[in-house]
Amino acid sequence: MLNSKKIAQVSDLCVACGTCMTECPSNAIHIKNGRKAIIDLQKCVGCGKCSKICPASVIVIVNREVDYEN
Ligand code: SF4
Ligand code: SF4
Repeated sequence: MLNSKKIAQVSDLCVACGTCMTECPSNAIHIKNGRKAIIDLQKCVGCGKCSKICPASVIVIVNREVDYEN
């Protein structure tokens, strides 16, 4: 079940440092192939913590384009 109309979005400029991953309260982030942070659409609650902490400032919080349901 999703409870947020917002979601984190990571740009390709991500340097895969992993800082956002440790900060996310929903465990919604993993680093794919050691190259880029990937947001789990099912887990992200749009809190923005990852966006604030990212040292490269490559995460923005955007509106979900569609509503998901489990
Ligand atoms: S904190 Fe920023 S640069 Fe580091 S892995 Fe997350 S999105 Fe990428
Ligand atoms: S917005 Fe919040 S819940 Fe979503 S990935 Fe970032 S820290 Fe995790």
